Parts: sequence; C-alpha cells; structure tokens
Amino acid sequence: MTYAVINDYIEKSKYPIKAKYEMTPTSITIHNTWNDASAVAEVEYMQRNGNAVSFHVAIDDKHAIVAVPFSRNCWHAGDGSSLTSGNRTSIGIEICYSKSAGDKYRKAEANAIEYTAQLLKKYGWGIDRVRFHKEWSGKNCPHRILDEGRGDSFKKSIANRLVELNKKLVTQVSKPVATKTATQTKGTYRIKTGTFKNASALADAVNKIKTDFGFVIHEAADTTSFNSDYRIYTGTFTTKEAAENARAKITAKYGWLTYLIDETK
Ligand SMILES: [Zn+2]
Repeated sequence: MTYAVINDYIEKSKYPIKAKYEMTPTSITIHNTWNDASAVAEVEYMQRNGNAVSFHVAIDDKHAIVAVPFSRNCWHAGDGSSLTSGNRTSIGIEICYSKSAGDKYRKAEANAIEYTAQLLKKYGWGIDRVRFHKEWSGKNCPHRILDEGRGDSFKKSIANRLVELNKKLVTQVSKPVATKTATQTKGTYRIKTGTFKNASALADAVNKIKTDFGFVIHEAADTTSFNSDYRIYTGTFTTKEAAENARAKITAKYGWLTYLIDETK
C-alpha cells in the first residue's frame, strides 16, 4: 500500500465549469469511476472535457492525484447546488479501475482507505464524515464496494486506520520543528513536462534527462485506451529553488514545456 500524492490542479480558467464555488469542506465522498482508466488518465480526461462533472482526487494503485483544491467545490455528488449539497460541501474521491480490474483495483481501494484516513486526521474529523455518493443522490456509487456488500467494512477499515494515525500523532508531538533558512523555500516540489507525441519520444526524453542531469524520474507514461499521456514526472525536490533551477536547466537544454508542481502540504 504505497502511493505518491501529486497535486495537478485544474487551470483556473476551468473553475466556472468544474469548480464554480468556493468551498469549506465538511465531509468526504467516496466514488468508484466505473471504468478501467488510471488516475492520471481520469484526471486528464476530467480536465480536458467541457462537462460540469468533476472531482477532487483520483486514486489508483500508484497515485493519488489531487485535481482540484479542497477550497473549491466539484460536481460529483449528483445532488444539485444548494449550500448544503454534497456538491458544495464534500471532497470527492474517485477510486479507479473499479469496472473490471483485480489486483490493481484492490490496491487502489487500499490506497483510498489510507488517503481518506489521512484526510480525516488532517481535518480532525471522525469516520462519520465519510459518505458514499449514494448517500447524497441515491446513485449506486461506489458501485463496486456496494455491489460486493462491503460498504460497512470499507468504512470500518478507514476508521481503524484513523485510530492508528491518531495514536502516532500523540507520540510524534515532541518532534522538533525544522528551521527555515532565509534563501530556501522548503517544501515538496516536482517537475512535470508537457506531453510527448508517443512512447518512443517519451523513452528518448527519459534517457536524455537521466544521462544529462541524473534526475530521478518518478513516473513516465501512462497509456490506456482512455487517453494517452506521455509525460515525465520527476522525483521530488525539497526546495522550490532547487526545483526551479532544475526546471530552468531542462528548459534551457531541450526547450520542453515544463511545469512546477507544488506538493507542499
Ligand atoms: Zn460517484
């Protein structure tokens, strides 16, 4: 059960369609995607299409990709736009590969349990804050969890994990606070490239970047029938300056489009 959290936020120009309102979240809503696309593909598709359908996080066996900040609403609960609707109050989490995958789906679900427990801890919430899409609108979602009769056990797994996390919180409370230096912005930063035209162009790019700079490549390529997404995600940098410096080098050498992703929590 390991996954990387990547913040790959939607462009603000898409807010009117995808994330119209400011939001102070009060719950978390669990969904199944009902397809076999990866989290990367699910997010790319959501960001690209013009439908008023959106979600905050897509989770698969490898990634939790945060596509919309939790300070904005998403259209995922199917219950309208009143101030108390799920659409206006709840963080929408899509668990990927739910249609027919075996092991990949089970890993995605385990990651979603971990991620949701972490989120509950972060907000100081209890398990009562976790809801299923069905509880808002009646839709049979998350279909796989519900069809397999595991609704209660799924929530129980999150609750158990939350208990563990809260115990750890108590023992870690005396940990010293890291000191900040004047010129370095500490955090978690990653570089994402634009898309390459095919798998071999991507492989060439990965080779170049490794040979020329020795940068760690976290992830390259995610190809599904749903969408082809040939990008490079580097490993993380611990300061913004280091990441910007690396990004400048990549751009200067290859002229590629690159993005700085700020994953600082
Ligand atoms: Zn749903």
